Amino acid sequence: MAVRTRRERVLTFFFVPALVFAVVVLLGVTFRNSFQLEKLREQSVVEATLTLANEKADRLDKRIIEQDNAVLSLVDLGDREAFGQAWLAVAARQTPTISNVFLVDLGSKEREVVAFATRVPPLEAEMERRIFVRSILPELDLAEPRTQLRHLHKTVDRQSYLVSYWQRDVRGKNLLLVAWHDVPRVVHDLFPALYSERDQNARVNVVDESSRIVFGPSLSRGSFTLGRPFETTLYKWRVNVTLVSAAELTEAVARRRTLELALVGTSWLVVLVGLTVVLVAAARERKLSNLKSDFVANVSHELKTPLSLVRMFGELLQSGRVENDEKRQQYLQIIVSESERLGSLIENVLDFAKVERGKAAYQFSNANVRDVVSRAVEACRVRAQREQVELVLELADDLPATEMDERAIEIAVINLVDNALKYAPDGRRVLVSARRAAGQIEIRVTDEGPGIAAEDKKRIFERFERGRGAQSKQIRGSGIGLALVKHIAEAHGGRAWCEPAEPRGSVFVLSVRLREGNGHERSVASREATA
Ligand code: ADP
Repeated sequence: MAVRTRRERVLTFFFVPALVFAVVVLLGVTFRNSFQLEKLREQSVVEATLTLANEKADRLDKRIIEQDNAVLSLVDLGDREAFGQAWLAVAARQTPTISNVFLVDLGSKEREVVAFATRVPPLEAEMERRIFVRSILPELDLAEPRTQLRHLHKTVDRQSYLVSYWQRDVRGKNLLLVAWHDVPRVVHDLFPALYSERDQNARVNVVDESSRIVFGPSLSRGSFTLGRPFETTLYKWRVNVTLVSAAELTEAVARRRTLELALVGTSWLVVLVGLTVVLVAAARERKLSNLKSDFVANVSHELKTPLSLVRMFGELLQSGRVENDEKRQQYLQIIVSESERLGSLIENVLDFAKVERGKAAYQFSNANVRDVVSRAVEACRVRAQREQVELVLELADDLPATEMDERAIEIAVINLVDNALKYAPDGRRVLVSARRAAGQIEIRVTDEGPGIAAEDKKRIFERFERGRGAQSKQIRGSGIGLALVKHIAEAHGGRAWCEPAEPRGSVFVLSVRLREGNGHERSVASREATA
């Protein structure tokens, strides 16, 4: 079971949460700033648009009132005969949108138009006069204060009309002076003059009371389009303004926000991935270090057992107290096989150390697979006999010679047979076979043991890893045998794996790529191969 060190505990329980907290805070602050900044930007754009809309609306009011005042100063209210003559002389220049001027006697019973001056042809003038008397005059606001300039903006038969009017007392008579503005002319002449496209930053239009466009282009209904009614003159209509730069600004803001979000998201992801990598690496390191400690303990134990046997039987022989030759022979046999076991263990450890340091060098030569596998099996024969296991060798007839490191393959096969004898003690038979298969030679070692648990299948080929069964049954071992086999197989262009045997047991397979050549030395980067 992997035990966390103090530093790891600090990392997991303090540093990681602190880091996550810091990132969350950073994320929150970034978002808040971004939103606030956007709000401020929006606010300033709204303010700028509103100011512009006010200024545009006031511009029209000012122009109309200027003309109204011009009419008032030009018309002589006391002289009905020459009424409006002075105005008519300069009207086209000074009051271009005023087409008629009426003088009404408010004291008369019918509110009679007592004087009338016009700039339009007689027929049209007569029509406008009639509209004035019938639809406009009754609507005029004549309440106090009477002298004030007032405006009436009215729609009659879907036509918009605008009049400016004042009350004046002249020689005891209450008179009403009315200036009739030609609204189509306001639209066609005055609006373009006032709201021309010269202003690159803003787009302007004017809409009527039903929001139909009277002048100008249609404006997108973005958040930066603002409208304002004309305050005094065409008060049923409104002027709308869109800042051209505002649309760009909206886009820029949106783009920037997306970018900021993407950046923050990516950083968040990087931190998360980084953290995960650190934690996984720490966990792996912890596991590996525990495996290494187990390995040291296991190897020491493995060395100790045969050494004490050798020593014990050696001392017995030395003491001369061994009764007969048969016993002496038996003791000698034990000494030999235990020192063999010791030798192969040391060889394994040394080879593995080379692999670990990346110093594993293989001497490839054109070799006969039959010879190599037979030699390995013979090396294990005595032990198999002692354990009363039948060791069977089955070699296909068509096995060709191939490039391989004879000693390495021998070690790999010995490791596999050794495992079969070790982990399948109740099995009576271990079969070692070699055959040709799709550009490869497969060497298979089949036992009748307990087999391999599915979850152990891959793991047991990793360095220092031991199967659950081996640990629970306290079978001696160091966890490097199969890692070495895998490395050797991969160095030979093949691989190592295990599969279940029928009816029980497991088959360990070592494959070697078929290659014919003259032999050479090849170093193999072992870390990748064994990791
Ligand atoms: P070791 O034998 O020293 O533990 P190995 O790398 O040779 O190390 O084997 C790794 C693990 O694979 C063993 O601990 C054992 O659990 C499992 N194993 C290997 N060979 C066999 C086998 N023939 N039958 C069952 N389990 C096996």
